[in-house]
Amino acid sequence: MKELVVISGKGGTGKTSLVASLAALAGGAVLADCDVDAADLHLVVEPTVVRRGSFSGGFRARIMPGHCIACGKCEELCRFEAITYDGPGNGRAAKTFRVDPIACEGCGVCAWFCAEKAIEFAPADNGRWFVSETRFGPMVHAELGIAEENSGKLVSLVRTEAKKVAAARGRELVIIDGSPGIGCPVIASITGADLVLVVTEPTLSGLHDLERVTRLTGHFGMATLVCVNKWDLNAELAAQIEARAGELGAQTVGRVRYDAAVTEAMIHKQALVEYTEAGAAMDVKRVWSNVRDRLDRLSPFTVL
Ligand code: SF4
Ligand code: SF4
Repeated sequence: MKELVVISGKGGTGKTSLVASLAALAGGAVLADCDVDAADLHLVVEPTVVRRGSFSGGFRARIMPGHCIACGKCEELCRFEAITYDGPGNGRAAKTFRVDPIACEGCGVCAWFCAEKAIEFAPADNGRWFVSETRFGPMVHAELGIAEENSGKLVSLVRTEAKKVAAARGRELVIIDGSPGIGCPVIASITGADLVLVVTEPTLSGLHDLERVTRLTGHFGMATLVCVNKWDLNAELAAQIEARAGELGAQTVGRVRYDAAVTEAMIHKQALVEYTEAGAAMDVKRVWSNVRDRLDRLSPFTVL
C-alpha cells in the first residue's frame, strides 16, 4: 500500500480540487481528508457516512460549583487566564469560579492543586471522524469542534483509519488531502508517507511557500513532486518556481493552466476531470500520469 499526500504552502492553491480529480483518475484509491481545519473535499465527493467515531485530543477542566469554596487558588495558578470568578453561587459562597472551555489548554494544574477536589479533569470532546463511501472509493474524513485545536492528532487518526480501510479492502493507494502550511497538522499529514505532491501557484508567496514546504519534506527525506497550478497567470514565476523546486530536490510533474471550468466543476459538485475533458482537465491527467509513474517506480504496483 502506498500513501500519496497532496499539500500546499497555504490554502486556496487548488489542492483539494486537484485531489478530487486524482481520486477520480486513480479509481479505487482510499481518500483521506487530512485538511481537518478546513475540510472541504466532501463538498465534491459527497460522502455517505457508514461509520463514525469521536475524537479527543486532550483534557479539559470543569469546576463543579457545588464543591467550590471560592478560594481562588485555581484562578491564581492558571497561566492561560481560563478561570474567572463568575460561576454560580452555592451554600458557602455567593459566587464560585468557572473554567472557560475555549481558553482552557488542559494542563491540569488547577485540578491538581484544588484542595476541595472541586475540579473535574476529563478527556475533551474535540471532534468527530467518519468512514464514508464515495463514488471514487472509501473516504476517511473528520470535523473539529468549533474553536478546537489538536488537529495534528486528528490528522494522524484519519491517516491510520484510512490505512486500515485500505488494508481491509485490498486497496493499494491512499490519497491524502493534506493540511496546508508547515505546522503540526501538515507534519502529521506527511510523516511516513511514500510520496508528497506540492501544489503551488505562480506568485511570490507561492514561491516562498514552496521553498518552506519543500525544505520541510526534504527535512523528512521524502520524495517530493511539484505542480504549478494556474501557471499561465505568470509564466515567468511558474518557471522560477519549477527551477527552485529542482534546486531543492523536488521533481516537477506538470503545470495546470487557469481554467474557469475548475470553479464550474465545483459548483456542479464534480471533479474537474468528470466535468470536462478539455483545458485544465488535460493538464491534470498529465500530472496524474507522471505521479503514477513515480509511484510505480517507488515500488511496482498497479493502481486499481
Ligand atoms: S481551587 Fe477549587 S475550591 Fe478553590 S476556587 Fe478553584 S475550584 Fe474552587
Ligand atoms: S487545566 Fe490548566 S488551562 Fe485549564 S483551567 Fe486548569 S489551569 Fe487553566
